[in-house]
Amino acid sequence: MRLSRYFIPVLKENPAEAQIVSHRLMLRAGLIKQATAGIYSWLPLGFKVLRRLENIIHEEQQRAGHQAIQMPILQSAELWRESGRYDDYGQEMLRMKDRHDRDLLFTPTAEELVTDIFRSHISSYKDLPLTLYQIQWKFRDEIRPRFGVMRGREFYMKDGYNFDLTKEDALHSYNRHLVSYLKTYERMGLRAIPMRADSGPIGGEDTHEFLVLAETGESEVFYDSQVTDLKFGNREIDYDDHSACQSVLDEFTSLYARTDETHEPSVFEKIPPERQRKARGIEVGQIFYFGTKYSEAMGATVTDANGDNSPVHMGSHGIGVSRLVGAIIEANHDEKGIMWPEGVTPFHCGIVNLKQGDLEADDACQDIYQRLTNAGLDPLYDDRNERAGGKFATMDLIGLPWRITVGPRGLKNGVVELTSRREGVSEDLTPEEAVNKLISIYQSV
Ligand code: ATP
Ligand code: MG
Repeated sequence: MRLSRYFIPVLKENPAEAQIVSHRLMLRAGLIKQATAGIYSWLPLGFKVLRRLENIIHEEQQRAGHQAIQMPILQSAELWRESGRYDDYGQEMLRMKDRHDRDLLFTPTAEELVTDIFRSHISSYKDLPLTLYQIQWKFRDEIRPRFGVMRGREFYMKDGYNFDLTKEDALHSYNRHLVSYLKTYERMGLRAIPMRADSGPIGGEDTHEFLVLAETGESEVFYDSQVTDLKFGNREIDYDDHSACQSVLDEFTSLYARTDETHEPSVFEKIPPERQRKARGIEVGQIFYFGTKYSEAMGATVTDANGDNSPVHMGSHGIGVSRLVGAIIEANHDEKGIMWPEGVTPFHCGIVNLKQGDLEADDACQDIYQRLTNAGLDPLYDDRNERAGGKFATMDLIGLPWRITVGPRGLKNGVVELTSRREGVSEDLTPEEAVNKLISIYQSV
């Protein structure tokens, strides 16, 4: 993409309404535009990041054996009356009537709808286990939407639902989700720590939240400093293997890590004092096991091998996709702007032409652009007639991990400059070396 043609409405001034750095940078770098309180339009650069997160989530969900579906945003109140949540949910649920005076609502989550799909089609244990998920817009009429996409009213969420014959199987599904979420967040360049939490309005027995540590986080968290050293890494895991998933869960949850609601001072104090940490975190996901709460209320039963009928065991799992864009920026920025991790960056690299209109520089940029594109990479070429300082400032603000700077002086010596946004380190390479280096970096992401 050529920057001269790209719609990226960069702001020079800091927007007054933004209280935290990610919100400020998302507005300044032209990722989003507020439509009304807690509701945003996603502009090209922001939308690209959202799509990349979505792709990672789809890939990791499918690797874990889960199936993607798409459920509607507007739902009938009927099903929610069956589960009892139509009255329980309160003012966060946006309700409306259609022209026939029927009650509709904007989905805040989808346990009822997915349970209805299940009970309509599945009645035997032979069709289990089953996990269905979607990535879909949700609406919760938050009393105080704030921090941009971090606490919106409309937000993008991956929500998944598992159906299992027994509690034991459902707990395996729980563990499998925990493992696949670890992998998902790491691919996004994030350290999201699974912490035991209270279950809230969804209700249930077992739950972990995934938290990214950040000063601007809304949750107070307590943990053993050693949890931040845990890394899932590149290990391969067989998601059908119960004990393999269990052992990853044990590894990641054996050290104390809890959100405020369930803070237990007595356990926390057993951690050596120098390792006790109290901090703030951003909740980027949550997994639940809630047993037969919905299946009993809504008559979702299956027959087992003996022909006996019983309610199916369920859990649900959410990832805050739009919130993640803010959380990633909270964890990856400096005073100049965003620093995208390679796994989620909107463009793989920027190409800065220091002397637009200089035949040799223009040709070299075009050639680098073409080679990167041919290799399947997506570069952003700053071909504007602007001063170098302005071009660098834009690149630093939008935060692509790599920049190739091309100018007549370097080209005389046969080199361009490859710069890492994160390290701030530059090296002189031939155009071909620079391209090959980027190709190999992105092959390993
Ligand atoms: P919170 O405690 O932050 O209000 P929640 O526990 O009510 O969130 P869940 O039902 O667990 O939310 O939803 C799954 C994920 O969706 C959350 O972990 C979070 O990342 C995201 N999410 C929830 N509410 C919002 C919101 N208002 N804006 C953006 N993302 C949200
Ligand atoms: Mg939650």
